[in-house]
Amino acid sequence: MTEKAPSRIRCDIDFEKIGRQLGYLRAPHSRNSSGWGTIEIPIVVVSNGKGPTVLFTGGVHGDEYEGQIAVARLARTLDPARIQGRVIMIPAVNIPAALNNTRLSPIDDRDLNRCFPGDPRGTFSQMLAHFIDAHILPMVDVSVDLHTCGHSGEAAPSTNMHYLPDADMRRRTMEAAAAFGAPYNAVFWGVDEGATLTSSVERRGILSLGTELGGWGRVSVAGVSIAERGLLNTLKHFGLMEGRPDTRQADGAPGTRHMMVRDPANYSFAPADGLFEPCNVIGDSCREGEIAGRLHFIEDVDRAPLEIRYRRDGHLWMAAGSGRVRRGDAIAVLMQAYDETAAAA
Ligand code: CA
Repeated sequence: MTEKAPSRIRCDIDFEKIGRQLGYLRAPHSRNSSGWGTIEIPIVVVSNGKGPTVLFTGGVHGDEYEGQIAVARLARTLDPARIQGRVIMIPAVNIPAALNNTRLSPIDDRDLNRCFPGDPRGTFSQMLAHFIDAHILPMVDVSVDLHTCGHSGEAAPSTNMHYLPDADMRRRTMEAAAAFGAPYNAVFWGVDEGATLTSSVERRGILSLGTELGGWGRVSVAGVSIAERGLLNTLKHFGLMEGRPDTRQADGAPGTRHMMVRDPANYSFAPADGLFEPCNVIGDSCREGEIAGRLHFIEDVDRAPLEIRYRRDGHLWMAAGSGRVRRGDAIAVLMQAYDETAAAA
């Protein structure tokens, strides 16, 4: 329905033009001190010759830094002469949140990645989601959206993708993930589906990769370098740039390990509010029944901590470690080696 809906957001880029352009998505933001105020979201397009269109996005969540840094650096440095095709780069899609250092938008308190496919007449985040979905995605063949766990946890450096029912698209996406070259690629059965950018990308039949490259509210050195190499590897894999993807792993592994998060028992949740002490770090091999962490009740010194146990074997993909958690928060997510038969079951 929203396909052709006009947006209130303006963009001064000519997407058909050859060369490099830096421009802005100008989103209206009326406020007490400026009725005609706008929010400017930087966008860089590098285009040359014939080839696919690749979209690189960072900062959909404002407190996830590695993607913002890597996409911005590529946007500053990518020479159109090296490209066959078109690269659209938005280093900080949710720039109000990025400048505010928060996951959610400070304008409407929304999670942009739960607002898709958006609404041109909705709140700021809904209007922005609609513009990305209805005005950017129709041009795109491949989308790589760079994330981390922000302040809520840390992730083993990984690409990720939904388990796609279409076998050919699943294979092509796994090949793109292997070319990106993160230590892990997590195939998962989503959380809160339908409202994410990934879901909008998939609805349009576009190849979609996500990443989780850090977290805990800091910049991961490894995460930035995996992101930068991964963006270039993606351009090489899809033929926009010459050369072969470099997928060597720091620990000597032959390449990306495909993993899956199929079983709901991979998720462990806090049974109460408290101060969470994790027992493992990302990438650890964990066993069912082992203690994932302890929930401390600091306000009641004599009360014993609650032990939270893993509900199955796996490797730790995401781990909380940000201190206080609320009842119902995910404190650990495990993954297992990808198995095509088990995945299809
Ligand atoms: Ca995120």
